[in-house]
Amino acid sequence: MTNLGSRALCLFVERLNTESASEDERRPPEIIALDGVVSLRIRHNLVMTAAGVRPDSLIFEPLPGRPVPTVRLTVDDDDIVVRVNGEIVGSTCELHVRDVLKCVGEPVALHLSMIQRPYVGPVATEHVGRACAVCKAPIDDPPTAVVLECVACGAVLHEHAPDLGSTGEFLECAKTVTACPVCETRLQREESYVYVPGLAG
Ligand SMILES: [Zn+2]
Ligand SMILES: [Zn+2]
Repeated sequence: MTNLGSRALCLFVERLNTESASEDERRPPEIIALDGVVSLRIRHNLVMTAAGVRPDSLIFEPLPGRPVPTVRLTVDDDDIVVRVNGEIVGSTCELHVRDVLKCVGEPVALHLSMIQRPYVGPVATEHVGRACAVCKAPIDDPPTAVVLECVACGAVLHEHAPDLGSTGEFLECAKTVTACPVCETRLQREESYVYVPGLAG
């Protein structure tokens, strides 16, 4: 089953030494996409990123298929002590959305979040024949039909579709619920972050 919506884990980079930064030096938060294995090196307030596993780095590996979005962190850097939510971690641990990672001595904090890009639009071939999560009727593809995918589980719902069983009626199943009936995640229609940290500065 292919979903047209997507979710991707990411890291908000927070600069903690804002008292020394002038207004012009304050930059908007950097966001590092974890759309695969990503290695980070943090040295003297610099955060360098590279795709794949690199030596002497913090390695972030999203673990697909987990019910709760999860990233495995491997600390492969003898010069760095990592705290997650204040607790020192060993060579590997699992991170979840809202976890905050700091390296001792570095004025940087990394906040794990997730961007979600829901699909709301015309019926695609991958939707046809699947049951609407609300009314259970199979999704059909008349040209004017619009469906919404749950961004968390991929369930498909009628957003605004002609009811082929009764002329002039429309199915608006997605508008009758606030949460996905399958996974109970709040239904989203706009691109958004699951969590936006309140950043210093
Ligand atoms: Zn429906
Ligand atoms: Zn769902």
